[in-house]
Amino acid sequence: MSKSAKSSGPSPDPDPLPSVQLSELTRLYHLGDETVRAVDGVDLTIHYGEHVAVVGPSGSGKSSLLQILGCLDTPSSGSYLLDGEPVLDLSESRLAEVRNAKIGFVFQGFHLLPRATAQRNVELPLVYAGMGADERRQRAQSALASVGLADRMNHRPGELSGGQRQRVAIARALVTNPAILLADEPTGNLDTHTGAEIMDLFDELRSPERTLIMVTHDLALARRARRLVALRDGRIEFDGAPRDCPNEVLHA
Ligand code: ADP
Ligand code: MG
Repeated sequence: MSKSAKSSGPSPDPDPLPSVQLSELTRLYHLGDETVRAVDGVDLTIHYGEHVAVVGPSGSGKSSLLQILGCLDTPSSGSYLLDGEPVLDLSESRLAEVRNAKIGFVFQGFHLLPRATAQRNVELPLVYAGMGADERRQRAQSALASVGLADRMNHRPGELSGGQRQRVAIARALVTNPAILLADEPTGNLDTHTGAEIMDLFDELRSPERTLIMVTHDLALARRARRLVALRDGRIEFDGAPRDCPNEVLHA
């Protein structure tokens, strides 16, 4: 027997590659003489499969942080590794590719093309990715089916309810099979019941390979996440299980 003590028994998994790694991330806005520290030295590591709710009062930097995570904005300083790749060093064209391939974004206001059918809206990211028409159609149809809209493919946004529009937007975000799904107040324009249905859908869409980061100021919805990150004045005030979060942080 030549096995060393070290190799006997199951060895612990090495720390898996994080999906998102931010360090000392800062985003300043300059308004005349005033400097707003929208994101102020944030360190944050999120692993694949995590479902993180980001909360905080209005103006605490939630959207600014999410825009950077989604490569829609660049920070003033700090570093950001997305899927192990230092995205801040990338050229504009490579960044656009990364955004298209790795990130799905869901907005409060849906951001659908009003004249395009649900199917066409969902196909759009695949058009940008250069995919052929047949495969695009198939993928869009299966994404729409996965959000419960198999019978609404040919409807335009104006012919759909708010909840259905958000489902189309979620299908569009997922059709590229992104590693990271970002959502900024995805239930903010919906009534409570419809908002809860959209949250159920996010739960159903969970996968060990995909990270979900959702901004919400609805505490009942935030508590459904395994991990809660609370921001205040651009800084992380709490990061942990929702049940461990002090009430004064949640109700500030
Ligand atoms: P939240 O999403 O938590 O409400 P934001 O990220 O939108 O917060 O805003 C954080 C801070 O940055 C606020 O003080 C806001 O006024 C400021 N801010 C956000 N966007 C801009 C901008 N484009 N120009 C100047 N200031 C901004
Ligand atoms: Mg916001």
